[in-house]
Amino acid sequence: MASIYERHVDFPTFMEGVKKRNAGQTEFIQAVQEVAQDIFDFIEDKEEYHEAQILRRIAEPDRVVSFRVCWEDDNHNVRVQRGWRVQNNNAIGPYKGGIRFHPSVNESVLKFLAFEQTFKNSLTGLPMGGGKGGSNFNPKGKSDSEVMRFCQSFMTELYRHIGPDTDVPAGDIGVGGREIGYMFGQYKRITNRWEGVLTGKGIEYGGSQMRPEATGYGAVYFLQNMLEHKGDSVDGKTAVISGSGNVATHAAEKITQLGGKVLTLSDSGGFIHDPDGIDQEKIDWIKHLKNVKRGRISEYCDHYTGSTFHEGKRPWSVDCDLALPCATQNELNEDEAKELVSNGVKAVSEGANMPTTLEGVHVFHDAKVMYAPGKAANAGGVAVSGLEMSQNAERISWNHERLGDMLTELMQGIHEKCVEYGDQGDGHVDYVKGANIAGFKKVADAMLAFGVV
Ligand code: GLU
Repeated sequence: MASIYERHVDFPTFMEGVKKRNAGQTEFIQAVQEVAQDIFDFIEDKEEYHEAQILRRIAEPDRVVSFRVCWEDDNHNVRVQRGWRVQNNNAIGPYKGGIRFHPSVNESVLKFLAFEQTFKNSLTGLPMGGGKGGSNFNPKGKSDSEVMRFCQSFMTELYRHIGPDTDVPAGDIGVGGREIGYMFGQYKRITNRWEGVLTGKGIEYGGSQMRPEATGYGAVYFLQNMLEHKGDSVDGKTAVISGSGNVATHAAEKITQLGGKVLTLSDSGGFIHDPDGIDQEKIDWIKHLKNVKRGRISEYCDHYTGSTFHEGKRPWSVDCDLALPCATQNELNEDEAKELVSNGVKAVSEGANMPTTLEGVHVFHDAKVMYAPGKAANAGGVAVSGLEMSQNAERISWNHERLGDMLTELMQGIHEKCVEYGDQGDGHVDYVKGANIAGFKKVADAMLAFGVV
């Protein structure tokens, strides 16, 4: 009997299915939608991808592991949290992607992040699949020992699902050097194995030089590549940056080193605006405030008079040449994108994952602003994680300078791939399209080689 199964569906039918199967998972649907249109255009005449249902398969995680994490707070209360690991695709390498601890974490957010990570990791050219994990645990306001107990408990469950050739987690929002240390210690204790199972480790125990800087620096290198492609540079330009964590502070540092002037940074309480520019000394002060004192960005204005704090606001209304959203998903909407465009923004480089809403992306696209999506612009972080995996496997360590050169080269390579698939022929590059197609192609071709598995 002939099959009635439709092998070659169109984009609207595909999206209908995604929405139906993932009801209520808005972030995941948004991430798939952002990619799927470009892929459909690309594979229109490539029947083998339709036959093998490649996009349908990439948009369905290989597995989603969900577990309970129990821990005791300092007052001896038993607390219960949810933990997840989403293993999206391992066609081109072990699952790889960060762990996020934030109250907003849920299955939809982690599925979107794992999906994006699959394309991002592919773009780096290194052998890494896509995954993401996390918990709705909120590290804000918790003592070091509470964070330690939570991380140990989280790893007590997670360890059985990961491994240096299986799945290699790293940091993300709410997970930095401190948390990676606690989790690595617990993994080692349980398994009695020292192996490169996590990246973003401390330098003393197998971490890589440049990893802390890599995401922020990489986002600025990508920006630099976009500007250079148009015969321009960062020098003398003003930049508006959101966030004040690892990505934002290192992006600010690199903008400053390249002769740009950083006007803003932010946290969930609001943004600071410093018209004199947030220079290296001020960035170091913020790093200490955030990483050691674990304070709020508003404190900056008590210390540096001449700056202003804008409570509950995002920085996109500030006049600038360059915008770098480095905080979190959906932090830049359609109206804010319009405001940036009318203020004359030249380029946008995303340090965060999916910080611009779909409508916001369309605004940048229509205005032909140079716009680099997170999966390309912030890939420097995971790229240096890939180098950390190589160093651990070889039991060697490369120095800061060498890794800096490798990061610069990797970002250049990603930029070239985006231009290859995103050049519009009129001098404009559609970086979203370029990143989507280049990221997809490598994973898709590997999957075709495996047959139906
Ligand atoms: N969380 C980072 C990202 O979004 C880094 C992941 C990693 O290094 O594995 O790419």
